[in-house]
Amino acid sequence: MEAEASPSGIASHLRSALGATRHALAATSRLVLDIALPTLCVSCREPVNGEGVCAACWAKLSFIAPPFCPRLGIPFVYDPGPDLLSMEAIANPPAYQRARAAVRYDDVARTLVHALKYQDRTDLAPTMGRWMARAGQELLADADILVPVPLHWRRGWSRRFNQSGALARVISRESGVKVASEALRRVRATEQQIGLSRAQRASNVQGAFKVAAERNADIAGRRVVLIDDVLTSGATTDACARALLRAKAARVDVLVFARVVDTHKAPI
Ligand SMILES: [Zn+2]
Repeated sequence: MEAEASPSGIASHLRSALGATRHALAATSRLVLDIALPTLCVSCREPVNGEGVCAACWAKLSFIAPPFCPRLGIPFVYDPGPDLLSMEAIANPPAYQRARAAVRYDDVARTLVHALKYQDRTDLAPTMGRWMARAGQELLADADILVPVPLHWRRGWSRRFNQSGALARVISRESGVKVASEALRRVRATEQQIGLSRAQRASNVQGAFKVAAERNADIAGRRVVLIDDVLTSGATTDACARALLRAKAARVDVLVFARVVDTHKAPI
């Protein structure tokens, strides 16, 4: 095919071939690979010591700190006083109780999320998970169980692992709260959320999740923290929260690595 022979087609073949080689090498000897190839910053590709992001790119990440909406965790530009909710939380109250995110979803955050999700950069999970554990301290302090947002089974095959599961395991190690993996399942195929309107996103994921009957005891009466990499429109998160509440979860909070912050919607 013409597209296959184009420079970008060849480049993508090369990339996947290189990726496969790197993957095989990593499996053969992680140690040798670490010595041979320095870890590169996922964002700027400069060599980096240990963690996945260099100091310069780390400084560019927008960590979310108070003041923020106690319900949605959306940062406020000024402190409106305790317990005041954002307009968004009042206009569209979510099914979950509280949401917290480590960083705003911007270019650097997007690079990190994509590298973890699509480029086998599993080495990023410990760092991202630690940042999440810190951002979610308040939620984790009175949580019984962590539940990662499940992957679509088809995407689970093409991707090596569930990034939400990997993040949940790190957060579990940091907080001591156990992970109930496989308790929440996707029971219906959903289209990619990209390019859909808010209403379309909501109907796309409605009823797509369910707590497995044999795992109901893990959820019923428990205070759940739902773990995901990114919070965008909140439609997926909300559908998951509803499924957990249908299974009689005592409460559902949400902890993500990055959340989209709509700067056009000013807080109260
Ligand atoms: Zn960098």
